[in-house]
Amino acid sequence: MAQNNSDDQIYLNGTDLEELRRALRAIVDLRDRKYGFPSKRYESCFIGSEAVATMIERGLAADEDDAVRLGNVMLQNGIFHHVQRAHLFKNEYLFYRFASDEDHGRLPDEVADGSLVKWSDFLGILSMTAGSYGSLQPSIPDRDPELATLDQIDLEAVGVSPLDEHNAKLLDNVHPKKWIDPEPKPTYNLVVVGAGAGGLVSAAGAAGVGARVAIIESHLLGGDCLNVGCVPSKALLRCAKAAADVRDAGRFGVRIEGDVTVDFGYVMERMRRLRAHISPADSAKRYSDQLGVDLFIGKGVFTGKHTIEVNGKTLTFAKAVIATGGTAAIPNIPGLAEAPYLTNSTIFNLTELPERFGVIGAGPIGLELAQAFQRLGSKVTVFSRTDKILPKEDPESAGIVKESMEKDGVVFCSSAKYKRIEARDGKGPVCVVLDDNGTERSHKFDALLIATGRKPSVFGMGLESAEVEYDAGIGVVVNDRLQTTNPDIYAVGDVASKYQFTHMADFMARLVIKNALFFGRDKVSDLLIPWTTYTDPEVAHVGLYEKDLKERNIDFTTYKRDFADVDRSIVDGATVGYVKIHVAKGKDRILGATIVGRHAGDLISEISVAIQGGIGLGRLAGVIHPYPTTAEAIRQCGDMYNRERLTPPVKGIFHSLMALRR
Ligand SMILES: Cc1cc2nc3c(=O)[nH]c(=O)nc-3n(C[C@H](O)[C@H](O)[C@H](O)COP(=O)(O)OP(=O)(O)OC[C@H]3O[C@@H](n4cnc5c(N)ncnc54)[C@H](O)[C@@H]3O)c2cc1C
Repeated sequence: MAQNNSDDQIYLNGTDLEELRRALRAIVDLRDRKYGFPSKRYESCFIGSEAVATMIERGLAADEDDAVRLGNVMLQNGIFHHVQRAHLFKNEYLFYRFASDEDHGRLPDEVADGSLVKWSDFLGILSMTAGSYGSLQPSIPDRDPELATLDQIDLEAVGVSPLDEHNAKLLDNVHPKKWIDPEPKPTYNLVVVGAGAGGLVSAAGAAGVGARVAIIESHLLGGDCLNVGCVPSKALLRCAKAAADVRDAGRFGVRIEGDVTVDFGYVMERMRRLRAHISPADSAKRYSDQLGVDLFIGKGVFTGKHTIEVNGKTLTFAKAVIATGGTAAIPNIPGLAEAPYLTNSTIFNLTELPERFGVIGAGPIGLELAQAFQRLGSKVTVFSRTDKILPKEDPESAGIVKESMEKDGVVFCSSAKYKRIEARDGKGPVCVVLDDNGTERSHKFDALLIATGRKPSVFGMGLESAEVEYDAGIGVVVNDRLQTTNPDIYAVGDVASKYQFTHMADFMARLVIKNALFFGRDKVSDLLIPWTTYTDPEVAHVGLYEKDLKERNIDFTTYKRDFADVDRSIVDGATVGYVKIHVAKGKDRILGATIVGRHAGDLISEISVAIQGGIGLGRLAGVIHPYPTTAEAIRQCGDMYNRERLTPPVKGIFHSLMALRR
């Protein structure tokens, strides 16, 4: 027996399921198959279009529509699924595998007992289909009634999809389906609001030194970095780089026959798999069981100077840390609000590559993703209001990145004057309409990413009751010791800094632990903050820029080594970029450096160590660097510095000495 539980899903009982499974299994061609570049092997699977043809041929379905419908009823009931769980059943060259062939496969009536509900329990139950299938009326399966209701499957609320095994694992770690908050302790040494990089480091560090700590997270532990930021973006960038390297292989005598294609479904599945793999470090289980932190999953709202409410419970604290981060800032362009645009919160849910991909914003996030999507096969256009890209970097570095992206095929549309965004009935495609000297120019896209900066999360969390001052643009107001206007409340990370990096949130949190719990007097202005934009080539920076030095009237000399002159870069065929180091005039003191090149982000740490350790550029020249490495460029800047230090009198003495020794 089968029952239709709602308009768009049908549940079959165990007998029906088994019968259908056997019938389909008997007629489809099950084999190990390969797909994509580099090709991935999928064990024991069948092809959607072949299955449709066979179902019709064997009389299991009347026509194509009927076969697809029947296939989706089976998929919906967990009999089989797309190998990456990224597609419904379609009459297309897509691979599907029977759940019974999976190690972890289970039929939907074998779900957990409800005492410990996992996201993976919903795999195969989640209705991914639309439309009603009257002719196949099933019954509600014999499963835990708690799990049978769709309102439990609040994927929209968690914003993570598709619900495949990887996302189920991620969510089990960072947003457990059935989290039961602990009973609040009488008073906490520290309550942390927000469990992104800043909040997690604050909580772990404080608990590690014996403090009684609670952390409150309204959405996903790990915050932006793990879920919708650094981790997924760098996973995509890696695949994009592989594609670019393969296309470029001819330069190295490696001939590739035919077109280079990218299996976008695989790229996204890899990203989801790796993100899930990393997620235990930020998990609810680790923080509560191993680190002894009281975790509350819900929105934190301050109710007083030392109290905060979450899920109806009041927590009292001696000190608190606000680490609520930020979200994508959406520009005020007519029509945008009604259009189906993407932000960093949604782009990593894509399962299909948009053919035409528009990016509004030319900062690090926009450019990294623009280059990645272009290399993965989209046709990308980047729009910026000004004629600059990477506006925080010096124009020379930004110019190199632009040139490289143009070589990839990215089109830049700078100084764009937006008239409106158009999308029919709020659906794609999306048109960006520009004013081009009085004429309207329309650019059509299958997906549009908004990457025009970030806005701090400061609203609706009772900051007024806590007497914490904030500004909608700059976030929570803090002093140099990261104290807010309530001296017992501190703020860290994106909500309180214009340096919006994970490592900055991390080090702000370390500073706060000292200041809040140990009477420390550390200052945020003392932190040396390097950063990297992970385009190809990368741009990495630490310390002061040339323009800062000029504005501050600091005398300096710049030492620059182009990678075109570095042996390793030459033989690697990666001669784009340079190392540029600014040194105080007359002193061996490094004031700032920029590196543009393939591994700039890794190379910059040597200079950070030197600056922090008070090691001058002249001394770096005396450090043996293995030959041939790109890091030699740094040592070679040191050589230049030392050569310049030889004043004419010193040079004269050396000459005389050499003459004597001949
Ligand atoms: C696409 C992208 C790529 C990036 N790549 C890099 C990179 O390569 N390197 C790098 O260093 N940085 C990168 N960043 C920036 C980095 O992700 C952020 O700097 C970092 O996540 C900031 O951490 P945070 O703890 O301040 O805030 P978040 O990570 O934003 O965490 C804040 C948390 O607070 C929660 N919260 C908000 N309000 C409340 C409330 N009232 N109650 C309870 N919880 C609340 C939120 O749900 C969230 O989980 C990237 C960002 C993006 C978007």
